Parts: sequence; structure tokens; C-alpha cells
Amino acid sequence: MTQTPKSIAIIGSGLVGSLLAIYLKKKGHRITVFDRRADIRKTEFSGRSINLAMSNRGWNALREAGIEAEIKEIAIPLDKRAMHVIDKPLYFQKYGKEGEAIWSISRGILNRRMIDIAETAGVNFRFEEKVWDVNLPETKLYTGETEKGEWSEYDFDMIFGCDGAFSRVRHKMQRRSRFDYSQKFIDVGYKELSILPNSDGTHKLDKNSFHIWPRGKFMFIAMPNLDGSFTCTLFMPFEGEVSFESITTKSDAKIFFRTYFPNVQNDIDNLIEDFFKNPTSAMVTMKCYPWTYWDKVALVGDSAHAVVPFYGQGMNAGFEDIFVLNQKMNQYGDDWDRIFQEYQKDRKPNADAIAELSYRNFVEMSSKTADPMFLLQKKIEKLFAAKYPDKWIPAYSRVTFSDKPYAEALAEGDAQEAIMQQIMLLPDIEKNWDSDTVEKRILELLET
Ligand SMILES: Cc1cc2nc3c(=O)[nH]c(=O)nc-3n(C[C@H](O)[C@H](O)[C@H](O)COP(=O)(O)OP(=O)(O)OC[C@H]3O[C@@H](n4cnc5c(N)ncnc54)[C@H](O)[C@@H]3O)c2cc1C
Repeated sequence: MTQTPKSIAIIGSGLVGSLLAIYLKKKGHRITVFDRRADIRKTEFSGRSINLAMSNRGWNALREAGIEAEIKEIAIPLDKRAMHVIDKPLYFQKYGKEGEAIWSISRGILNRRMIDIAETAGVNFRFEEKVWDVNLPETKLYTGETEKGEWSEYDFDMIFGCDGAFSRVRHKMQRRSRFDYSQKFIDVGYKELSILPNSDGTHKLDKNSFHIWPRGKFMFIAMPNLDGSFTCTLFMPFEGEVSFESITTKSDAKIFFRTYFPNVQNDIDNLIEDFFKNPTSAMVTMKCYPWTYWDKVALVGDSAHAVVPFYGQGMNAGFEDIFVLNQKMNQYGDDWDRIFQEYQKDRKPNADAIAELSYRNFVEMSSKTADPMFLLQKKIEKLFAAKYPDKWIPAYSRVTFSDKPYAEALAEGDAQEAIMQQIMLLPDIEKNWDSDTVEKRILELLET
């Protein structure tokens, strides 16, 4: 269905705002994107600052916009995890079936490319213009240098808040009656570090793997960049025995990396330099509802649902919001009230589900990986899934390589967990975990 062109403001030129601009422009609307930041295409960054994993849902949304192939050129497929476990040789775990992969992509390079695509299509960008206030019923917004200074007023037909987890647009909606809102920080923070390329520009570690150094309460990961470097993220408690708080000098950092990450010793000087140069950031789960105001204002992406990054799905979920919103636009044409109602009804349970899945993954990684019964359970599940791939799809695959709604992926996971709780109570499960009896019992429980 076609739509009558409207004058639309998008607040935020991040990954979600720029993709939404491309979609809405294609529908024939006049789009202005505001961002408080300078144009990312003109600011200096090494190109190796922060990268993300793009998976099925993200690609679906890019394909629908006609830009999948162009974006794949700047991404690297990762078809396996590389596990760097202390006292064990490096080993690899395939992610999924043949051909399934997640893709490592630099956030900055991706954002620049999407702004370019949107601008070429005719989207108007206004950088270094911070939105301080929004008049929701009149769809006016106010920008300026400072909160107390002089503001410019803009008048639009509709406004989309794509201004991230600490959204100003949402802030305004929060002041209305019956607006639900919650946020929860975890006690673990993260810091970005990098491993530089070899002198000939090649990667120092396998470039088609997502590298993980699991260490119980903390974890180090690395994803490849096109220039031969790796962006690494250190996740660690803010406080405690091994924590960001406990590492205060270069010598503390040296001991830390030497003790826990023996196979990155050649990069230790660079890692230590990054450790003290780069900020330590917090991670939050944010939930809210409703996401829309009349047929005039809507939240999309992190402004509507921020999740902790342990499933690598935040951006993917934001892109899927746009994919669904577009389906509703195709279905309901100019009936924006219906479009918004259907959009938020469809997406909210799924956003809650990916928040829950991401949080559970965090708990699993930080507190369960040392529990022998938990590890045994995972071993049984893996064996069964390998033998019956149609009957037992692992949670990671359901979330990452399918477009099944997140809420269904969560419900299936809960059903699998209920089965496994019974299996783990079988007598001598430690000895019989790979027996026919266990396999038969899982099959029986799946039938019930
Ligand atoms: C450590 C970490 C790792 C992650 N890894 C992954 C991953 O592997 N895969 C994945 O899918 N997701 C990942 N994510 C999540 C992903 O980064 C976010 O979900 C995604 O960036 C959200 O995009 P957004 O455009 O909604 O918000 P943002 O990226 O936050 O963009 C918001 C934009 O709005 C602008 N803005 C804010 N306020 C105003 C204002 N008042 N006026 C004007 N402009 C404003 C900001 O300048 C910014 O440009 C990760 C997140 C973290 C923290």
C-alpha cells in the first residue's frame, strides 16, 4: 500500500535512525535526521573502534532495504567460536549448520555507510543539533546549544525517537500517566581494547572466528576488523577481587593480562595502553511501554528496549523493529494509528524476550560455567542436538540464525530447560549421560 508523503523527523543518526531514514525515504516521505554528535563521516576514528555481530535478523532488514550486498562488503563472516581456555589448547566450536555465520562489522564504518546511502537517497541530516525537548501532541521539537540557552523550534507531521537507551523523546513520554518504565544496570562493566595487525597487515588470530577467553566472573572477546586488527572487549565486575577497580597501575594490568591471557602476551603493551586510555562503560536493560504516542511519535531501537550485549542482538533487534514497522506500513497505508498499535503490540513481547535471553546469557557466562552439573547438562544437550537437529535446535541458533520471534525462541528454551531438569535427576546421570536410556527419555519427554 502506498502512503501520503509526510514530513518526518528522526532523532538519532545511529544505526537504527539511519536505517529507518532509508526505509521511510523509500516510502516517499520527507525526512530530516537530527543528531547531537558531529557527522561521523567527518570525525576521526581508527576504523577499529568497537564492532558488532550482525546476524540473520539484521541482514533481513538490510535485504528488504536493498543494501545487504553493499554492507556485506564491509563485514567478515565468523562461522565458529575460538575458545581460549586456560590449560587447554585452543579449540573451535562451529556456530551452526554449514554456511551459517555471524558477521563482524565496525560500528563506525557501518554507520558512515548507512548515512551515505540515506543522504544519497535524499534524506536531510542535521548534525551537532541536540534535541532538548519534544511537544508530543503538536510534533514540535526544540534544539539548541544548551538546555538553558536559546532553542530553535521545528514543526513536523511525525517524530521517531531513535536516540538510544537514554532517549530524550522517551523521557518526554515518561512524564505521561500510565507509562511503564524500568532500568537495571548489571555489576559488570566493559572496556574496548585492540590487537593490532601483523606488520604485513594480516590478522594475528584466526580471522573467521569469534574469539572468547572465558574466565568465570570475567571474559575477554575479540572480533576481526578488515584492516587486520581485532577489536577486543573485556567484560569484568566493576568492584571485587578481580575487577576494574582492582587494576589501578600498569603493573597491575601487566600481572592481570599475564595471569589470565597467556596467549596475548605479544600484544600486552598495546592492551595495557588501551586499558588506561579507554573508558569503562556500564550495561543496562531498559524496558518501557507504550512505545508510541497517538499516530504521531514512535520509539524504535534502543530508545524502546535496551538489552545487555551477551547475545549480540541489540542492533539486530532494532533493525527487526524497522522490518516489522515496514510490514505494518505496507499493510495499513495511511492508517498510522493502526500501524503504530500493531507495531508495538508485535514488538514489545519480543523485545522483553531478547532482554531476558540476553540477561540469562550473562548469568550463565558469569556464574554457571564453573558448575559441573551445568556443564554436563550442556554436554547432553549438545550430543542430542547433533543427533536430532530437527528436534532440538539450540537456543543460540534459534535467536541468531532464524527469524522466529524472540518470544518463541525464549518459550522453546524454557520447554527444553524443563526437560533437562528431569534428565539431570536420572540416577547416575554423570555416568550415563551419553547412554541410550537418556536419549530415549529425552525423546519421550519431547513427545509429551
Ligand atoms: C559492548 C556492546 C556490544 C554490543 N554488541 C552488539 C552486537 O554484537 N550485535 C548487536 O546487534 N548489537 C550489539 N550491541 C547493541 C547495539 O550497539 C545497540 O543496540 C545499537 O547501537 C542501538 O542503536 P540505536 O541507533 O538504537 O541507538 P544508538 O546507537 O545509541 O544511537 C543513538 C543516536 O542518537 C543520538 N542522540 C541521542 N540523544 C540525542 C538528542 N537528544 N538529540 C539528538 N541526537 C541524539 C546519539 O548521538 C546517537 O547517534 C552492543 C552494545 C554494547 C554496549
